[in-house]
Amino acid sequence: MAYEREAAILEVTSVVLGAARDFLCREGFVELLPVMLAPVTDPLRHTTDRAILEAYGTSWHLTRSMIFHKQAAVRVCRRIFSFSPNVRLEPAEWGKTGRHLFEFVQLDLELRDATRQEVMALGERLFLYVMEAVRARCKGELELLGRRLPSFQAPFPKVTYQQAKERYGEDFEQKLSQEAEAPVWVVDFPIEVREFYDREDPTRPGILLDMDLVYPEGYGEALSGGEREHEPGRILARIERQGLDPKAYRPLLSLAEEGLPPSAGFGIGIERWVRYLCGLAHVREVRLFPRVPGEPSLL
Ligand code: AMP
Ligand code: MG
Repeated sequence: MAYEREAAILEVTSVVLGAARDFLCREGFVELLPVMLAPVTDPLRHTTDRAILEAYGTSWHLTRSMIFHKQAAVRVCRRIFSFSPNVRLEPAEWGKTGRHLFEFVQLDLELRDATRQEVMALGERLFLYVMEAVRARCKGELELLGRRLPSFQAPFPKVTYQQAKERYGEDFEQKLSQEAEAPVWVVDFPIEVREFYDREDPTRPGILLDMDLVYPEGYGEALSGGEREHEPGRILARIERQGLDPKAYRPLLSLAEEGLPPSAGFGIGIERWVRYLCGLAHVREVRLFPRVPGEPSLL
């Protein structure tokens, strides 16, 4: 049959979205509709090109993540999530990494008054719940794709950024991912390598209360998250420390001056998740209309 493989991947994607939504609703989360245009978005220092459009006499950024909206939304609801489309104009050569699209969707979630540890435990439960849903409901699809899913148990192993660097060198993600026998957490990133909104550990200056989850089998990063800076003075100091223009972040600073609650959360890329579960060579296979850096698209 034509398009058998494409149909199998779409079916798995659909089960991933449904299972994740079920799980989060049962855990007391409220789903937000995504925000696609905003006066300010995630700085993402690695992404140099900016996707901005002018309308109504002002500039609107295509959202690179909903980080600031999540921090604002937990004022209203204790636990929120969104399937959030992101546009990130990654370098053209990243089209070949197998992991990058310039339009993708992340499941972005945030919890008021939560610690990193609580969010990591929630991430493990979500990951295992979705994996079991795919195993149970996508037997035919996995067989067609030639994918045998392993089984894991929580808690997942954990290494610090420093330990990972000592073991595998500066660019440790790929090697760590290749050698890992289960999803592995990387915690405690140094302040210089992450964005300003990840909270600095008050007891260990220069170390952040953040984390990545890395897939086994060489599939690389699954998610990034952490506790957040929420006090206006601290946010401003971090913006300045990174050499960013505080004026550009005025909307966030104003919100923080009004009062933002402490929160923690993460964003997990859907295409990478499905790529891992299906054992695919490239995230492009997850989308019927993939946006691959450096490549044109028919539709
Ligand atoms: P970040 O906050 O930058 O770590 O992004 C959150 C998650 O989105 C990552 O952990 C990835 O799973 C996913 N992601 C980030 N950038 C891309 C991209 N260019 N293409 C596909 N997925 C991505
Ligand atoms: Mg990341």
